[in-house]
Amino acid sequence: MALYMKAAEILDKAESKQGAVKTLVYDSKFANIKQLFALVCETQKFSSILQEIIESTKLLKLTKLRMHLAKVLVYDLLMGQGLKCGGSWKAVMMKHRSRLQAALARMKVKQRVSKNEDLLPTSDLRLASEQLPRYVRVNTLKTTVDDTVDYLKRDGFSYMGQASKLDDLTLKEKDFVRDLHLPELLVFSPKTDFHDHFLYKAGHIILQDKASCLPAYLLNPPPDSHLIDACAAPGNKTSHLAAIMKNKGRLFAFDLDAKRLATMSTLLLRAGVTCQQLAHQDFLKVDPDSSQFKNVEYILLDPSCSGSGMVCLRDDASTADQEKNQARLTSLASFQLRCLNHGLRFPRLKRLVYSTCSIHSQENEEVVTACLQQNPDFRLIPLLAQWPERGLHPLTQCLRASTTKTRTHGFFVALLEKHSEARKRMQEPEVQISDPEAKPHSSFKCDKRPACSEEESEASETEDKPTTAAVQRASTPCKKKRRKKKKKSATVE
Ligand code: SAM
Repeated sequence: MALYMKAAEILDKAESKQGAVKTLVYDSKFANIKQLFALVCETQKFSSILQEIIESTKLLKLTKLRMHLAKVLVYDLLMGQGLKCGGSWKAVMMKHRSRLQAALARMKVKQRVSKNEDLLPTSDLRLASEQLPRYVRVNTLKTTVDDTVDYLKRDGFSYMGQASKLDDLTLKEKDFVRDLHLPELLVFSPKTDFHDHFLYKAGHIILQDKASCLPAYLLNPPPDSHLIDACAAPGNKTSHLAAIMKNKGRLFAFDLDAKRLATMSTLLLRAGVTCQQLAHQDFLKVDPDSSQFKNVEYILLDPSCSGSGMVCLRDDASTADQEKNQARLTSLASFQLRCLNHGLRFPRLKRLVYSTCSIHSQENEEVVTACLQQNPDFRLIPLLAQWPERGLHPLTQCLRASTTKTRTHGFFVALLEKHSEARKRMQEPEVQISDPEAKPHSSFKCDKRPACSEEESEASETEDKPTTAAVQRASTPCKKKRRKKKKKSATVE
């Protein structure tokens, strides 16, 4: 019974966007996490079908069950294990079993299908989700990419080298590659499960979708800087920022949700993050003029959004739902714009990265456009020229991500910069990139140079990073010579 209760609770929270299913399952501290995760995912997958069955049989009225619990129980009864651990609910459900079975059978007849799977309205999306690669970010606070690759090779995985095109991310079984865009990212076949792996449990690797690694990578705060992660929990991007800053500087992280912050503390501890200052606080109420934040130059803003880019959360909404969704989108977009405007009020701010895991332009390009109109002293930085999907016209400086074009969940990123910063960089003399003392940001003037080779992405992992990785990668020729890598101590063994 506890299993069904927990699954229903997680579905409820996921629907009200209190977190991603995976995080909620892990937060639950349930004894059999795998069983719980499978039950939640499968119930979520068949959600619209289960709802139709429940409504057509008037199950809620007859049993007084709540919708999510009813969905979990109906799923397990009709499509899963057959309510093996149902307790008193099993007896209740058994009374209605034949009517529920008949409702499912009627749906199949009507749609002329024989398998439950074929009833799914979004089978193409589900397929896309199941086929997304497993992305693993190496936590450079604890180890190096090379050491992680060596460890995994000894652990039975086959290293296929650095990917150079999107198709190289289609991997089978135990093959893995280094990503073509992000230097600290390893890519595995879709069903690779690292949850019980030593590297994951020890915080050496972070399981993070590739698109969600973009904001910290593009913001690229230098060590010793002061920055804010405005809506931070559960903290994957915070730990990425800390890794980029080499744990040096001050990272103020805010979140409204105490439970998510508690999870975040545990995750940051495991990842070896020490430069953070967590606060259970509404970012909109943080005073930009407080002396604490007088040196804040960078902000990562990844506010609550519709989550419409998360493939497993998408479904075909009814018309009534669509209207509800539209109202919700309007309210989210207004919150996101308020957060953006608030972020730009920090007096020494140089750059702010804005991201969502939404595919709706209302939460993405429209929010950024409105913000730029209200803050004419900020502009957009053109991001990663070689990235295959751009923001919708005219915001092509921004990036979008999707299952089809980038083999990730749906995502949006924009990098805003204060005009005075851009001017400062423009005034600096342009330097040769092959010069090891070159200041990378000074090459900003030249746009539209060829995309970088594998060498540069590898080099960027060990060299001092440019002030704006995005600008550097979008606008400079790739380094031919790589600086000799300093061998970092092996910590994964
Ligand atoms: N950046 C996080 C990560 O990568 O792990 C995910 C952030 S999630 C998309 C949005 C977060 O914003 C939620 O944890 C939510 O509790 C938090 N939030 C919502 N409104 C907020 C506010 N006014 N101030 C601070 N945090 C807020």
